[in-house]
Amino acid sequence: MHALDIFQKHPTTFSFEFFPPKTPESAENLYEAIRELESYQPHFVSVTYGAGGSTREMTNDLVVRIKETTSLNPIPHLTCVCHKEEEIHAILERYAKAGVSNILALGGDAPKGTPYRKEDDDFQHAADLVKYIRRFNDSGVHPDKRGFGISVAGFPEGHPGTPNRLKEMDYLKAKVDAGADYIVTQLFFDNRDFLDFRDRCELAGISVPIIAGIMPATSLSGMKRMAELAAGARFPARLLRSLQRCGDDTEAMTQVGIHHASEQCHDLLENRVRGIHFYTLNRSDATKQIFRSLGISDTKFVEPVAA
Ligand SMILES: Cc1cc2nc3c(=O)[nH]c(=O)nc-3n(C[C@H](O)[C@H](O)[C@H](O)COP(=O)(O)OP(=O)(O)OC[C@H]3O[C@@H](n4cnc5c(N)ncnc54)[C@H](O)[C@@H]3O)c2cc1C
Repeated sequence: MHALDIFQKHPTTFSFEFFPPKTPESAENLYEAIRELESYQPHFVSVTYGAGGSTREMTNDLVVRIKETTSLNPIPHLTCVCHKEEEIHAILERYAKAGVSNILALGGDAPKGTPYRKEDDDFQHAADLVKYIRRFNDSGVHPDKRGFGISVAGFPEGHPGTPNRLKEMDYLKAKVDAGADYIVTQLFFDNRDFLDFRDRCELAGISVPIIAGIMPATSLSGMKRMAELAAGARFPARLLRSLQRCGDDTEAMTQVGIHHASEQCHDLLENRVRGIHFYTLNRSDATKQIFRSLGISDTKFVEPVAA
């Protein structure tokens, strides 16, 4: 379903993010998580995109497989990094033919361990990719005459590569003006950062839906990985103190992380968030527990927000 239809029908969306598996064992975990989470009928699921060739193929394959074999609405991430225009065109054609409805258009993380020159990319910033997808939409290849719905990334705590926060808002506005239909945020652990970001977007004249990225910090190793992946994310002292109290008790740590994320979700819903996007790390347990604590067994039973 096209993003515009999703947001028109649903006052609050729930979605999950997966990454392409690298080993047969991780593939098994992923497909189990997908099966488990499918029963919640998320409004969409998204699949991340790496900088290397083979993982990129896996993203494309996984998206098409989800589309063809499940009831889920998959949204591929697509990045500017290490891409020429013809390659992006071919990927868009493949997704359009498979009936994929939406794309998350990103700048992308630079590849690690291989030489990389940003100036060799045909698209320098996500806004350029959004413009290109818009042009592709006009070509009439997509079965939906509106073409792909387009989302872009937002950074409530600021992007680590952009010290100037006012300019950063201009760049975000440029992505929306280029044609993005909604914004998905980087994960955050303090809702005040998200709510202030949402206010700043409003002041900047950004009126598309903004959906909040939530990831439960369920282990120290997971948190370290998060700190790498979501550079700049702030870990509040309250959360760190609770995790420290757990000592070596990994089960307690998991519960602390799930409790913190559940409290965030409750508060976001009270604050009329347009959507919550769960960074699942390809596992279903934490997300399922959060849904249970929110009283949600299936997203179609989520109460509409009063106008
Ligand atoms: C929800 C979400 C999902 C993500 N998924 C992936 C993924 O699957 N794969 C992946 O590789 N990465 C992913 N990332 C990470 C993201 O690609 C990087 O953090 C990237 O550096 C920023 O992405 P962007 O789309 O905001 O890029 P851009 O908007 O291109 O911004 C990149 C940098 O350039 C600056 N900038 C933007 N426009 C201009 C301009 N006109 N002039 C000068 N500077 C400018 C920005 O401020 C920022 O510092 C994801 C991030 C989020 C929040």
